[in-house]
Amino acid sequence: MQKTSISYIKHYALSLVIAGGFSFSSLPVLSSEGRLTVYCSVQNSTCEKVTKAFSEKYNIDTKYVRQSTGTILGKIKAEKSNPQADVWYGGTIEPHIQAAGENLLEKYRSPKQNEIQPQFEKLTNQWGDYTSIIYSMALAIGVNTTKLEQLKIDAPQCLADLIKPEYKNLIQYPDPRVSGTGYNFISTLIQLWGEEQAFEYLKKLHQNVFQYTKSGLATSHLATGEVAVDVSFIHSYAREKEKGAPVKTILACEGNGYTLGSVSIIKGARNLDAAKLFVNYALSAEAQEIHWQEADSYQFPTNINARSAPQVAEFHNIKYIDFDFNRFGSNTESQRLIKKWSDTIKN
Ligand code: PLP
Repeated sequence: MQKTSISYIKHYALSLVIAGGFSFSSLPVLSSEGRLTVYCSVQNSTCEKVTKAFSEKYNIDTKYVRQSTGTILGKIKAEKSNPQADVWYGGTIEPHIQAAGENLLEKYRSPKQNEIQPQFEKLTNQWGDYTSIIYSMALAIGVNTTKLEQLKIDAPQCLADLIKPEYKNLIQYPDPRVSGTGYNFISTLIQLWGEEQAFEYLKKLHQNVFQYTKSGLATSHLATGEVAVDVSFIHSYAREKEKGAPVKTILACEGNGYTLGSVSIIKGARNLDAAKLFVNYALSAEAQEIHWQEADSYQFPTNINARSAPQVAEFHNIKYIDFDFNRFGSNTESQRLIKKWSDTIKN
């Protein structure tokens, strides 16, 4: 065993004793080379704060690369025979499930999964050998109220409103080929209306789309009024509003789509023990509160002991549609739908 591994184990054992929350019998037998590379699909600020906190806590040199969920999935596929990262942190769960189905993830069921809220138990039982749920996010419509007032247009209340002619060139939503949010949006439409109707709607919506963004996090165009309407997750709108932008969240009258944020270990990870430790950490209340306490990122945590951001308190109890993560987490289905979107809508 290398020196770094021994010093790391001592450090870890010491920190557990200091924390006083573990008995020696529950000490995980983990060693590490003292470094970790994370592919990160949450907000850049969260990637930065969480990897830094982890690095300092466990004395593991941790680097991250931030990219959208679909882009990271593509990277992991391309690097299959020579993985360049150990962990995939955050991003929508559907592509994590696809990666699991394609044998691109390392098997690891974290003991910290027993702190995930009970409503996610079924999914955790099913996919928890490969991926762990660390936050949830509700899909909504975001509007720039000033821009709409200037144009004398009423704010939409339903997804169906977005295809009305008055919104021509005023809308953006993320490109599902690269963005987990974009894929979650089209999956939501299919579940609300069936595939045929959803694609008819997307064709009409295309007439009103000003731009397809690369990420659900690209809400600054909405904040500045470059576009008047956006489709993404409510916490991004809450953040823009807090920064002073005239952005309002509208829960679509048809029902609320949602997704979950996940963390997984990449198959062939070179720093496997450090990767397991990172997954455990990402599941902890401590790490999940960093999102909103230090990084202005207001997705809902999943740890039963984690408090969520006051900025999204009003949305805490909204009712979600019954999302079929197995269907939309299937690699074949997602490739089919994304190709169909690409062929019939974008091109
Ligand atoms: N994770 C968080 C916390 C997010 O806010 C978002 C999008 O808003 C995503 C993941 C998905 O990001 P992307 O659309 O870039 O894949």
